Order: sequence, then structure tokens, then C-alpha cells
Amino acid sequence: MKYLSTRGDTTPRGFADILLEGLAPDGGLYLPTHYPKVDAATLARWRGLSYADLAFEILSLYIDDIPADDLRALVRRTYTREVFGTDTIVPLRWLDDGLAIEALSNGPTLAFKDMAMQLLGNLFEYELARRGQQLNILGATSGDTGSAAEYAMRGKKGIRVFMLSPHGRMSPFQQAQMFSLQDPNIHNLAIEGVFDDCQDIVKAVSNDLDFKRRWSIGTVNSINWARLLAQVVYYFAGYFQATRSNDERVSFAVPSGNFGNICAGHVARTMGLPIAKLVCATNENDVLDEFFRTGTYRVRGSAETHETSSPSMDISKASNFERFVFDLLGHDVAAATRTADLFSVQVPNAGGFTLGADEFARVPSFGFVSGRSTHADRLATIRDTWARHRVMVDTHTADGLKVAREHVEPGVPMIVLETALPAKFAATIREALGREPERPPGLEGIEALPKRFTVLPAQVGPVKHYIEAHCTA
Ligand SMILES: *Cc1c(COP(=O)(O)O)cnc(C)c1O
Repeated sequence: MKYLSTRGDTTPRGFADILLEGLAPDGGLYLPTHYPKVDAATLARWRGLSYADLAFEILSLYIDDIPADDLRALVRRTYTREVFGTDTIVPLRWLDDGLAIEALSNGPTLAFKDMAMQLLGNLFEYELARRGQQLNILGATSGDTGSAAEYAMRGKKGIRVFMLSPHGRMSPFQQAQMFSLQDPNIHNLAIEGVFDDCQDIVKAVSNDLDFKRRWSIGTVNSINWARLLAQVVYYFAGYFQATRSNDERVSFAVPSGNFGNICAGHVARTMGLPIAKLVCATNENDVLDEFFRTGTYRVRGSAETHETSSPSMDISKASNFERFVFDLLGHDVAAATRTADLFSVQVPNAGGFTLGADEFARVPSFGFVSGRSTHADRLATIRDTWARHRVMVDTHTADGLKVAREHVEPGVPMIVLETALPAKFAATIREALGREPERPPGLEGIEALPKRFTVLPAQVGPVKHYIEAHCTA
């Protein structure tokens, strides 16, 4: 399998070539040249597999430059009961007839990002060892991504993590999760500023190409193809749990921000998984809902980006969305030309674009529908789900659940992807239910653990000095 860029660069690259890269050199996102189709016999065979073996089968279709035995061992080491809590890895829980929640948040940081990041940690370690290289991951986080990256990379050979977060602004639980890590390859840098300051520093360091090359600086952002690929697996696993035979269809509802999670659903559907609808659920930051209703993609400015109680979906633009647009337009050379115009000319110059009527008319054949949810909707959904089912859902999953109910069709099971556990967002749970969220065993006293972090001013220089000092050490 070779990979191409959504903006037209067709230099042949294998999986291992793009694994450690971010954007393609032309600014586009990597996609496989084609999507392998899964026929009925294959689907029937996969139904009986463990999660790890299912993951191996799916990954193998896209990875031909890692020996099969190595890949199988790596995947089996990743998706274990020890890391994800159950042998099923992503167990399904039925609420009403035909409406289920797929648990994706039982990994170490209690959010679905562990599903991909844990695999990425093992893939990075493997590939770096094979190349005799090192990688220093630099990132900015306001919570979920940073902790998922740290728990995936802790103790990994050849990898260091430098994670910037706004000093004193994360929730006590999130701080405790990240700062209690004692692994010497994990560096928590608490920046005296807000999240945007952290992100600006990361950008400034990454734009210093000399520094970047000299210190092997890389990222683990959500546009990484390997992360998306890892997420394709749980759509298949959810389908097999919700159905008895492969002539049934299901729909998925996905709380969405950067369009990474639901883009994996689009890939699964394109491969032939019988998905009826892909329900894209947003919060008040409704860039994606607006697109699916109108065909207009309009990036928001920071003044228009709301701080909500489902903060991991507070985005101004959806960084993975370009992949879907490229596929919508035909996944070919002409599509790349058009995608390049939309995302490298119209988005920067006009703040967005409106698809042609003929282009937008293709969206329904891809299964996408959408909806949005507000703070009041979240509270109502959390209360209702607790009152009727004694199930506590987090704020993001509540957004998914609210929009899912608007799109249920008779005879088609609707699977809502749970993207985090309520323990991570205690304040809104207290507001909705007047009680503390449940906390998984082992995390009860986490706030009292010793913390390991360094406070730095919101300036590029001190961060660079810190990296230099700790890469040579
Ligand atoms: C990252 C995240 C999302 C959004 O996922 P995307 O892949 O960016 O669409 C939703 N919920 C939670 C809890 C997250 O951490």
C-alpha cells in the first residue's frame, strides 16, 4: 500500500515513511491510494476474532512494510485487558432497544484517544529502533491529547515527550493524571499563560527548521494517519457486537471536533462495513454541523470559538476534514487539485468555502448526517440517561447521545461512541446530577500523588533551552 497527499503529491510512500511525519510536504494530509474492500467472506471470518487479531487484519491491509509477525506481536501487546480493562476492549452497552454505547474510554487516560495513541507509542518505538533514530515529541495540550500521548510514550525507548500546558488551568484530575508520571522521558512544562500561548510556542519551535532537525522534533497530532487507522478497528468491533449477521446494518453517532474519530468511520464504511448513517455530533462549536446542513465550511475565529462543557470538541476548524472532502470529490488527481484550491487558497484567504451544488449533492451517499448540542442539552441528556438507565455519561458522549436520538431509524441499531468517562469532567456532572462522578478503581487518590513538572514563562527561548538541556542529558 502506498500513500498520497490530499493536495496532489503522489511521491510513492509506504506506511513506515509517513508514520513519523505530520503533514505531507505540499501541506495536504496523507491517505492510502485506495481503500481495500472487505467482502462478505472476510467479514464473516473477522466476526469471530479477538480485538487484537481484528486490529491486525485491518492494519495489515494498509501496512506492508512491517513484517506480519512483528505487527501481530505489537498489536497484541497493545490491546490487552491490562490496558483497556476488559477482554472485549470496547464493550457495547445497550440503553434502549436499538441504542447502544460503545465504550472506548477504558484506557489509561479515560478517553478514546488512548485507543489510537497506545498503538502509536508501540509503532513509534518499533520504527525508531529499526532506523536507529530518536524522536522528541513536542506538543501543547489543554487536557485529553497530552495525557493520552504521555501515557502512550512513557518508558518508550528512543522517545521523549515535552508537553506544554497552561499553568494552573487544567482540571485537578487532568493535572494529576499528567503530572504524577515519574518516567524520566516525560517532561511536563507548565507555561505561565493560556492554551493559545502554549500552541504558539510549539508552532514557533516547529517553524525553526534548524532547531527542529537538530533535536529531531516531532508531533503526535490528530492528522497522523496511523491514529486514524487504529480507530477504524472499533467501528468493525462495534458492528460485530451489535449484529448477528453481516446483512444487518448499523449507524454510528460520533461526538466530533477535529473530525478524526468520525473520519475513521467513513473509512470503515468505504471499506464495505454495512454502516447506514454516520451521525456527526457537535457542541456549540458547530463548524461541521453547518457544513453537513449547508455545504458551507466556515472556519471560526478565536472570538467565535466557544468555551463549552465538552471542551475537547471546542474547535475553530476541523483538521481532519480535508480527508473527507478529498474522498467526496473522487479521491483522484482532479479531486486533489480541487482540494488544494479549497484548503490552501480559499480557507486561508476567504475563511472557508461553499461546495458546488453537484459536489454537495454527493454527501448523502457517504452516509453523513449531523446535529448540534448545547450545554442545556448536555445536562438534560446526562440527567435522563442517569434517571432511566443508571448510566453516567460524560459531556462529550452526551452530545453524541442527544444528536443520535434525532437520527434513529427503526430496525437499524444506533451505536453512540463514548469518547470519555465522566470522571474527567466532574464539574458538569455535579451540575447535572448533584453528585460526584464515578471514578474507576485505582484513581481514587490520584490528586494526592507527588507531581513532576516545570513552570516556564510563556516565551519560546526558555522552552528551547529546556529541550536542549534535556535532550543531551
Ligand atoms: C478528542 C475528543 C473528541 C473529538 O474527537 P475528534 O477526533 O477530534 O473529532 C471528542 N471527545 C473527547 C472526549 C475527545 O477527547
